[in-house]
Amino acid sequence: MDTQMLIGADFEAGTEHEEAIFNPRTGETVLNLPEASIDQVERAVAAADKAFQTWSRTTPAERSGYLLKIAERIEAEADGFAALEALNCGKPINAVRNDEIPAIVDCYRFFAGAVRCVPASAAGEYMAGHTSMIRRDPIGIVASIAPWNYPLMMMAWKLAPAIGGGNTVIFKPSEQTPLTALKLAKILADVLPEGVVNVVLGRGESVGNALINHPKVNMISITGDVATGKKILQAASKTVKRTHLELGGKAPVIVFDDADVDAVVSGLRAFGYYNAGQDCTAACRIYAGSKIYDKLVADLSAEVSQIAYAQEDDTLNEIGPLISMRQRDRVASFVERALEQPHMEAVAGGKAHEGNGFFYQPTVIAGALQSDEIVRREVFGPVVSVTRFSDVDEAVNWANDSDYGLASSVWTKDVSRAMATSARLRYGCTWVNTHFMLVNEMPHGGLKQSGYGKDMSHYALEDYTAVRHVMIAHG
Ligand code: NAD
Repeated sequence: MDTQMLIGADFEAGTEHEEAIFNPRTGETVLNLPEASIDQVERAVAAADKAFQTWSRTTPAERSGYLLKIAERIEAEADGFAALEALNCGKPINAVRNDEIPAIVDCYRFFAGAVRCVPASAAGEYMAGHTSMIRRDPIGIVASIAPWNYPLMMMAWKLAPAIGGGNTVIFKPSEQTPLTALKLAKILADVLPEGVVNVVLGRGESVGNALINHPKVNMISITGDVATGKKILQAASKTVKRTHLELGGKAPVIVFDDADVDAVVSGLRAFGYYNAGQDCTAACRIYAGSKIYDKLVADLSAEVSQIAYAQEDDTLNEIGPLISMRQRDRVASFVERALEQPHMEAVAGGKAHEGNGFFYQPTVIAGALQSDEIVRREVFGPVVSVTRFSDVDEAVNWANDSDYGLASSVWTKDVSRAMATSARLRYGCTWVNTHFMLVNEMPHGGLKQSGYGKDMSHYALEDYTAVRHVMIAHG
């Protein structure tokens, strides 16, 4: 197992605080990893700074070639990456191997193509005798900070557009899930010129804090909690760094009375509970029309009760455990507080799983009201609430009545209603008769306190490059 950080061309162990890395399926410690010292962070920034001088002047075709090599190497070692991600996150191995790894490889390949055809306006003579042109140039040194729910995928979403755009990067994985980043660091050191990507380990309050406050860092890209995003903004204000914030979510799912109940139920089984609900787009906040409500609750509770988890034979599992005991306790406390209210009922699950690991039962809470905490706050666990609505205005108003604005979905057979409702939702993404489907060609990112800036798509390349005007006087 790779345990060392990448600083410039060197692999080094951290020298500070040791973080225990767990196997969430068993609760056992896999190993302890020391975090970077301030000196190591400084050297990583210096390496990125030095590399920027040459990397920023490479052509899109050259950078495209590097991205393709990274994709190829990950694909070649797909089984190793999948095993490591499954170990560190507790994810079912099949989900990582069959869903995540292909999407990760495709992300590098998408950006390898996209960097070669960035859309730009044509040069023009807007002042007589002067020709103006637009350049899209790199921003500089990017501090990329990732969460624990999809470690290798978040690394792809951050690295591919950043280095594709000509920037250099210091990447910090979550202190809880660094293993695949350390494995990828070996490949990056092989493939890329020295210093283009550096990988440092550590907690947010120490290593993360040193990165976001570093005067030489030009941009901070973070996927994490809203509270963390606010700290990033404060730090960024000191030297006016660019920020790219992918924060939490609490996705509303509006199910109209004419929806196909079977499709909704099987959709929710997949999209509400994937990755044990530790997903900022999870279909977790259901608003059901008054006529469909009872059948939806009954069918959903039957379906969710069948979700396979905590099986010895991991190939049978649909979902894994929560990432940590702390996260499981947090999820449990949300459900306990909900069930103290007499109007709510757990029609499936409702408890922590007894036995090893950080598992929580897939749970459906029926009878939730708009004002309830379980409807308003991000649980980030396998817990879905169902709320009855009476008309479309109520559904849309409740869906929009949230601090979050990342993802949403509408379920109906009526195309006009689907279009009209989608247009009124204040979310970065609205799916119709599905949920959770991401493709590298399309942007992912939020409104409101879910943050701003897009991952994936050519919009991400826009975020990781600066628009510059060059004017030539020619008489
Ligand atoms: P977190 O905010 O605790 O940590 C995210 C990262 O930020 C970690 O690497 C952490 O070390 C670092 N960090 C924390 N405090 C910091 C500080 N003061 N300075 C610098 N870095 C700091 O979030 P998490 O618990 O790892 O992830 C779960 C959260 O991420 C959820 O709220 C979830 O909704 C959100 N998320 C959002 C998206 C999205 O695309 N919008 C995707 C995945 C996860």
